[in-house]
Amino acid sequence: MAVDATQPYDDQNIFARILRGEIPSRKVYEDDFSLAFHDINPQSPTHILVIPKGAYVSWDDFTAKASDAEIAGFVRAVGHVARDAGLVAPGYRLLANTGTHSHQEVPHLHVHIMAGRPLGPLLAR
Ligand code: AMP
Repeated sequence: MAVDATQPYDDQNIFARILRGEIPSRKVYEDDFSLAFHDINPQSPTHILVIPKGAYVSWDDFTAKASDAEIAGFVRAVGHVARDAGLVAPGYRLLANTGTHSHQEVPHLHVHIMAGRPLGPLLAR
């Protein structure tokens, strides 16, 4: 079910549970502001999710309410994870689904890093 990006934060969402260590994830990177782990249902040879540690429903919620330190930390973490995975030269795609039309499924902000083959056009036609 797609998420309404304006809904209140649900602390039982799957990524909140991963952050609390209640369910496992294949961790790639962690720092004070961010956690990165492999997507459970990869859509490309490399498919990593980066999430902020703070309780933010969506890109909209995060950019409206997060502190400058959280935003800087999170953006740097996305770049670091992609660099560390060797994705800069071949290239990668970032995606942050936000709300119903985007088909956001998990109501905790996540940036998808997709790479590992030519990814084609942005949207399926
Ligand atoms: P979105 O449609 O942008 O909300 O993407 C949600 C993503 O979370 C999908 O690509 C799922 O495969 C992924 N996902 C859901 N549950 C888990 C999980 N437990 N561990 C890792 N990735 C997950």
